[in-house]
Amino acid sequence: MDIRVGDRLEMKKQHPCGGKAFAVLRSGMDFKLKCLTCGHEVMVPRAKAEKNIKNVIREETDA
Ligand SMILES: [Zn+2]
Repeated sequence: MDIRVGDRLEMKKQHPCGGKAFAVLRSGMDFKLKCLTCGHEVMVPRAKAEKNIKNVIREETDA
């Protein structure tokens, strides 16, 4: 799965605050995600994060 910094992810499993939308701050072996509802940042192993992704929202910015 192609996840890039700047993507927004809609997750199947929601954050404890109730939010389901996360911004990708860093990708690699682990994703660093920021909950867009409460602002918390979390590190999630790639394999675990990918299973939890429902939808990827990318604002097309071709550089
Ligand atoms: Zn949250």
